[in-house]
Amino acid sequence: MKKHALYNVFLLCSVLLFSNSSFANSTIKTLNENISNKKQVFLNHDVEQNLGKDLYYFEDKRNEFSLDSILKLEDSLWLQSLVATPNFGYTDSSYWFHIQLKSSKHSLDKILAIQYALLDYIELFVVDNGEVKKSFLTGDTFPFAQRPIRHRDFLFPLQFKASQSLDVYFKVKTQGSLQVPIEIWEREKFIWKDQDEQLIKAIYYGMLLVLVIYNLFLFLSIRERSYLYYGGLVVSVLALMSGAYGFLYQYLYPTSPYIHKLSMLLAVPSVMLFAGLFSSYFLSLPKVAPRLSKFLSFFNSLFALSIVGAFFLPYDISTRISVFLAIPSSLVIMFAGPYAWHKGQTSASFFTYAWAFLITGIVVSASSKFGFLPRNSFTEHALSWGSAIEALLLSFALADRFNRERQDKIKAQQAQLEEETQRKTAEEKLYTQATHESLDGFPNSVLFQQVLYRLLYVDSENSSQFSLFYIHLAGIQEISKTLGHANADIVLGLFSKRLLRLKNCCEKAEIIEATDHNEFYFAHLEKGLFAHIIANTELNIAVEYAHELMTLLAEPIEYKGMKLDLGLSMGIACCPIHGKDIDTLTRHARVAIDSADNANGQIGVYSSDINPYNERRLVLMGELKKAIDNNTLALHYQPIISCSDGEMMGAEALLRWNHESLGFIPPDEFIASAEQTGIMRYLTRWVFNRAFRDHAIRRRQFGPSTISVNISAINLHEHDFEECIIELLEKYKIPPEELILEITETSVMKDPEYAIAALKRLSNRCIKLAIDDFGTGYSSLTYIQQLPLYEIKIDRSFIQHMDKITGDQIIVKTTLNLSKDLGYKVVAEGIESQAALNTLRKMKCDFAQGYHIARPMTIEDLIRWQDDLKNDEFFTELKSS
Ligand code: C2E
Ligand code: CA
Ligand code: CA
Repeated sequence: MKKHALYNVFLLCSVLLFSNSSFANSTIKTLNENISNKKQVFLNHDVEQNLGKDLYYFEDKRNEFSLDSILKLEDSLWLQSLVATPNFGYTDSSYWFHIQLKSSKHSLDKILAIQYALLDYIELFVVDNGEVKKSFLTGDTFPFAQRPIRHRDFLFPLQFKASQSLDVYFKVKTQGSLQVPIEIWEREKFIWKDQDEQLIKAIYYGMLLVLVIYNLFLFLSIRERSYLYYGGLVVSVLALMSGAYGFLYQYLYPTSPYIHKLSMLLAVPSVMLFAGLFSSYFLSLPKVAPRLSKFLSFFNSLFALSIVGAFFLPYDISTRISVFLAIPSSLVIMFAGPYAWHKGQTSASFFTYAWAFLITGIVVSASSKFGFLPRNSFTEHALSWGSAIEALLLSFALADRFNRERQDKIKAQQAQLEEETQRKTAEEKLYTQATHESLDGFPNSVLFQQVLYRLLYVDSENSSQFSLFYIHLAGIQEISKTLGHANADIVLGLFSKRLLRLKNCCEKAEIIEATDHNEFYFAHLEKGLFAHIIANTELNIAVEYAHELMTLLAEPIEYKGMKLDLGLSMGIACCPIHGKDIDTLTRHARVAIDSADNANGQIGVYSSDINPYNERRLVLMGELKKAIDNNTLALHYQPIISCSDGEMMGAEALLRWNHESLGFIPPDEFIASAEQTGIMRYLTRWVFNRAFRDHAIRRRQFGPSTISVNISAINLHEHDFEECIIELLEKYKIPPEELILEITETSVMKDPEYAIAALKRLSNRCIKLAIDDFGTGYSSLTYIQQLPLYEIKIDRSFIQHMDKITGDQIIVKTTLNLSKDLGYKVVAEGIESQAALNTLRKMKCDFAQGYHIARPMTIEDLIRWQDDLKNDEFFTELKSS
């Protein structure tokens, strides 16, 4: 529709500009300087004739001539027009026209038609031999009733006797553009052609009207503003076109020339205003072309002002302002369509085509007006057709855009739904992994502790008395050593099956978990350690039951033709006599097992006489304290690289303890004990000191990077933890943002509120925080959002099996998505192959760590490694890819 606007503007502009220019007049003048004798025009009987070229005109600059003085004018003062449609543009002069008409041998009943409905004032005289026979006064400043023939154009009846010649003089004065498209018609024929024209116009107006109503309804139901602007645009185009052709005046307000003038004054700026609003909104110009959009908004406000101005500015000033503003504004709109299309706005294609049709209509119509194309019903209506097609195309464009937007919305919804299901699946999978033993699908210690919690605190009235059974398969280790891990796992699986079959062994046994397929009466706490609960039992009955259970379970397992003894032992702790809380009870059940193991005996019952710690553990802790004091521990560093370019980001510090007599002791073994015995505080401080010292050395050589240090949740409870870190950082002149503290998810979840507060304090000091072993804990995704994290480290168990287990890949992908949403970086640890690294790069994981990149090493090795990095083929390849 903006095209309409443009088109109208163009139409008006072209008419105004061409007509207004003295160019038009001067051309006429030079052609006609030496006229001495005026020609007569011979009228044909049946044929319509354009009289434009044969008109003689005289410019009455001061509007002072009367018919009398005109009749006395010398012929040489008249000029011949010579163009089909005489056009004098905006002018303050009056123009007098003269034409001499002579009929053929027949008498003729003719209509003289001036087909431009906007002329203000026309006074026409029919003169026969110097005698005025008839005179008419009309124009659109007079009420409609004054017209000689009731018609939107100015029609004058002319009757000729056979071979009679009549002089027609008329004076035209108007504030708009002064143009005189003049024809003479056989009366009857005129009525026919007029009916045809009315039909075409009616179709055209009807179509626009339907578009308006339809789009306004659309606007009312979906409240999308582009429909409103479009509706406004079509209405104003309708008003402009039907106003310019005189239809509105004839049918709506024939008695009020004032309303007629005003409506014409309002139409152009309204068309332009709605065209601007529609284009800007439809093409999303503020986004696609902010400068064009600002330009348009500026013009829109001017058009709004000129709408107001129409009420009190003089007619000619008001029209000139509108037309003057319309030119740049239409150019912008015309340019905006292809530009937005070029920028990838698909609906802009319709917009551009629509505009092209309008332009074609304007060009064809203007060309016929100026005589470059013949006047026929095609060229006559080119403008209407152009604007109608344009309106239709724009309506398609709107529908197209609406449809596209709806599809986008549906797609977005689907994607969201999919993501939600994926997240849910991942969360479920995470939950299952975190709560079950992967080997046999048995519930693990998490679910087991939940049952204990229920028994102790929720259902405590009915079941305050119960017995805890731990079943340990000491023989599994032996089997693992002789037959290998894989076989040991299979044997363990066979034992689990035996436990499943045993489900009805005792009616008092607590169900640890009931699934759709199974009821589990046993939990698998760690490899080779199972647990079982019997409700409402006293100690002696429990022991009796344990013996029964033992006979049922102790049978050797048949495997590959061998009978394998599992070295079954059992530990019992009863509530309430051996403990009234989860911690005590489970610890005591373990102590009972240890004592049974140590005695090579089969069933142990907890008693306070049994030493709560086994020998090795006690020895270890003593030795660890000594190792800290004597500085005989070591730190190894494992590099962490950026997935995208292989650049080294930092390193993780990992503790190493090589005891002179006990040999290498893995950190997993001594760290758990250190946490329980209060040594953790000293251990972590030692690690900080050493890690910072080494980091400072490396920093001097290679510049800033990060150093990751593992801490335990227990450290967070130390009152001076933060201060100690800050002090050490200052001592080694390390900026706090280069330190990353790694803490496991499980340890945070033990006391989430406390941990969150402590972590926030650290984060406020600019220290970075990472969640370690992500995926192995169990409340996962929801809690994570509340932590002030820098990064998440996906546990190596997911990375290692990513290529074989699709569920793991889903978890990795979901974790990555979630972290992106939350603004966390992601480290994948345990990368053992190029394939895993490639997969992670594809998933846009941030950082990578693992044996495939480098094993943990001493600080000297790390420095050498980092130095070699730039020459390393593997990394240059990574960087260039
Ligand atoms: P973690 O924090 O998850 O450390 C990563 C462990 O994965 C390290 O085992 C490392 O050697 C190992 N690893 C690295 N890349 C690969 C790989 O590609 N494949 C495999 N299979 N393993 C890989 P490490 O050194 O035995 O440490 C075990 C755990 O001990 C650590 O797990 C961490 O939780 C704890 N730990 C180590 N040093 C410290 C310490 O200074 N303080 C505390 N609180 N915990 C520590
Ligand atoms: Ca770690
Ligand atoms: Ca880890």
